[in-house]
This record gives sequence, structure tokens and C-alpha cells, in this order.
Amino acid sequence: MNVLILGGTGEARSLAGELPGHTVISSLAGRVRSPKLPQGAVRIGGFGGRPGLRKWLSDNEIDAVVDATHPFAATMTASAAAVTRDLGIPYVVLRRPGWRQGPADDWRWVGSVAEAAENLPAERVFLTTGREELAAFAHLDHHWFLARSVEPPRPPTPPRLTVVLDRGPFTVEGELALMREHRVQVLVTKDSGGEMTAAKLAAARELGIPVVVVSRPPLPDGVHVVSGVEDAVSWVRGIAGE
Ligand code: NAP
Repeated sequence: MNVLILGGTGEARSLAGELPGHTVISSLAGRVRSPKLPQGAVRIGGFGGRPGLRKWLSDNEIDAVVDATHPFAATMTASAAAVTRDLGIPYVVLRRPGWRQGPADDWRWVGSVAEAAENLPAERVFLTTGREELAAFAHLDHHWFLARSVEPPRPPTPPRLTVVLDRGPFTVEGELALMREHRVQVLVTKDSGGEMTAAKLAAARELGIPVVVVSRPPLPDGVHVVSGVEDAVSWVRGIAGE
């Protein structure tokens, strides 16, 4: 089969190497200048909205689509769900489970990054929501921000901002050192889930600082979801009749 993997995550990279016997094409949005590339063929850049995706899937005779995008890539997932449904192409979302709050955690759930900006319980803020989201905090001039992202942020950004360019995986020791060095008082994160970036939550717990957690956007109605690479492989095999 010709399988399209919508990527941008570690799971998408792993899956691309786990489908021998199929022609796999991984798709990346192109946000990161030197992305970690998966095995096999890769295409980079948006499809050009739903009409572009529809044409691309037809032109490339795609038999199945695994949407392994980040849980917050809601526009891509909405497009892929709608277009594959219209074309009758089997479609599955590979979504890692969200993070679970423990008894020692002080997590404050919010519905969006904008809501996080309105609900900061302290002044020295560690932002790990990605560079695209800094604009939501740009109007806050009484706070100081430490922002970590893979690529340098573009304006608008908050006036009192220190940027750390880095990408996971991160360690608890490293996160503790970073938060202590900058005297961080509150952490802001999306509920991305997974091990790669979970160390900051353990560090916040150890330091006794609150975490503002942005809930995931809802998935489109009726889509089939699996939570791990192995299940996605089984799904593809099932579609292929293996
Ligand atoms: P988004 O808001 O859902 O998508 C915006 C547009 O970017 C889509 O409409 C599509 O353009 C294009 N796009 C997104 N993912 C694509 C893919 N895998 N292949 C080709 N085009 C793609 O997405 P986003 O939140 O900006 O995320 C962009 C990429 O970064 C995704 O691959 C995602 O997995 C990864 N990522 C996102 C986050 C996050 O926090 N959002 C974190 C880590 C990694 P067209 O409409 O032109 O097709």
C-alpha cells in the first residue's frame, strides 16, 4: 500500500521505520529548519488547504493515512479527517496519551494558550508552549518569561523575555538546573504527553511550583484513534489484509 504518515512527532518517525513492505511517505509542515527526518520518502510543506490535500492524496494514489501529528496540530487533523472521509481513504489518528496529574502536582488546567496568559499565578514564567504561541503573552509587561523553542521566536514577543533554543528529550536534572538558574515560579505547558518533554513536570513537582496546563483541542467526531506506534502498525496491517 501507499501509506501517508502526517508527521512532526517522534511517533511518526518511529512508525515510518516499522512498515516494511509498504511505500511510506512522511509529511512534515516545514516549521523547523533542520528537522529530524524519518526513514523513507519525505515531503515538506503544507498541502494548500483541503483542496490541495485532496489533490495530493489522489495524485499519489494513497491507500491509507496515519495522522501522527502533534495533539495540538488541530487544523491539519481536521483537514485530514474531512478529506479522507470524502475520498473514502482509511484514516487513523495516532495520539499519545495526555499527561496524568499526580497527588503532589499543582496543575491548573486552561482551555487555550490565551487563557493561560490570563491566568499566570506568578511573575517569573517558564513558557514551553512553542515559539508560535509567544504572541499570546506579548502584552504582559509585568511578567518575566523564559521561553524554550526549537527555532528562534518571531515578534510579537513579551518585552521581558529570555529565549533558550533547545529540543527534547530533556532530563529532570537539566530541567531542575534551568528552573533554579532562572528562579522560575510557574511553568506553562501544553498537554503534549509523552516522555520526551515530561521531565519539566517532575522538576516543577520537585520545586513545588504550579503548572498551567493547556488542554488538548478535541479530535474531529468519529475518527479512529490509536495511542501507540505498535497499534498504528497493526491498524495498517489490518487495512492491508496482512
Ligand atoms: P496546524 O496548525 O494543525 O496546521 C496548520 C497548517 O500547517 C495545516 O493546515 C497544513 O497546511 C500545515 N501542516 C501541519 N502539519 C503538517 C504536516 N504534517 N504535513 C504537511 N503540512 C502540515 O499545525 P501546527 O500546530 O502548526 O503544527 C505543524 C507541525 O508541527 C505538525 O507536523 C505537528 O505535528 C508539528 N508539531 C506541532 C506542535 C504544536 O504544539 N502545535 C508541537 C510539536 C510539533 P495546509 O493547510 O496548507 O495543508
